[in-house]
Amino acid sequence: LPPADELAGRWAAQAHDHKASDGEYQRIMSDLAFGKDFSDYMAHAIWTKDGGWGEKTLQPYGPLPVTPGTSVLHYGQEVFEGLKAYRRADNSLWLFRPAFNANRFNQSARRLALPELPVEDFVGSCVDLVRQDERWVPSEDGATLYLRPFMYASEAFLGVHPAAEVTYLNIGSPSGSYFQGGFSPVSIYVSEDYHRAGPGGTGEAKTSGNYAASLQPQEIAYEKGYEQVCFLDGETNTYIDELGGMNVFVVYKDGHVATPALTGCILEGGTRGAIKQLLAEEGVDVREERIALQELLDDIKSGKISEFFACGTAAVVTPIGKLGGEGFVVDVPTGPLTKHIHDRITDIQWGRAEDTHGWCYRV
Ligand code: PMP
Repeated sequence: LPPADELAGRWAAQAHDHKASDGEYQRIMSDLAFGKDFSDYMAHAIWTKDGGWGEKTLQPYGPLPVTPGTSVLHYGQEVFEGLKAYRRADNSLWLFRPAFNANRFNQSARRLALPELPVEDFVGSCVDLVRQDERWVPSEDGATLYLRPFMYASEAFLGVHPAAEVTYLNIGSPSGSYFQGGFSPVSIYVSEDYHRAGPGGTGEAKTSGNYAASLQPQEIAYEKGYEQVCFLDGETNTYIDELGGMNVFVVYKDGHVATPALTGCILEGGTRGAIKQLLAEEGVDVREERIALQELLDDIKSGKISEFFACGTAAVVTPIGKLGGEGFVVDVPTGPLTKHIHDRITDIQWGRAEDTHGWCYRV
């Protein structure tokens, strides 16, 4: 990627008198939650089949004109991304691997028959939004401005076809540290009755329907007293795929680490990729393979497994302490590798460790 100064200025800010008041701003920033408050601006562009991408602007964050016939409301033709803007101790602002998100956005777009957005425009929208809404990037430890780029079928048409008009937006949400309650293990419930993805489906795309499909099983997990849902492969109901919004890794006592192979049904996480690379560089034998639920349970019971953790942009790395499902519940041991890899990544993201991979991108 070219430096941010070269990408900046593509999304031109419009005059804006809807900014949050000082009181509102203070209230939000002193009690950061996740995803419920938004910064002042949003990046906006409309694509048409005939004209391609139109004017790129930063507009006031606010309601959109949506007529009831708008295609996305009926057929869910939508893709999105999630990444964070970090304010370091020296006040500089950074993104983590934004080109990865830009490329994944376009991979998702192809699967949903949506137009691609040039990587420079995607990352440029993050740069311009973060620069414009700089005051919304928290300085509190671990807190970030969460960025949500997305695009959807904005054409008003009830025929099932790829939309001839698509709207791209990028919004920012100031968010607190995920670990307000400390680095504590989560419990996960294995959904054997419901899947989020199947062969040839949209599992490897970051698209709204996958998350809609995860809600009912997630509710069941909550009702049974678990925090997260874990999905098995939709073809054989045998192998661990991923959680509703995170990938997983298993740490074995013999020293190797495994993460489910990318079968087309799993979202390829940026955090997953970074972990794979960091562990491999530390000499750990990292394998991408199919992990059968039954074997996982047997290996936990027989002591072959020393740790099990989940990873994703929001929580970075989180230990899994309990695994339950229809007719079983096992406690999973916790250990030092989960915390180690969490610290390795967050130290790079926050500039406390050297970024030898060029993952950090200065805004
Ligand atoms: N799987 C799913 C289904 C997700 O929604 C996410 C979050 N984007 C992930 C995995 C983790 O991906 P990443 O590390 O890029 O955030």
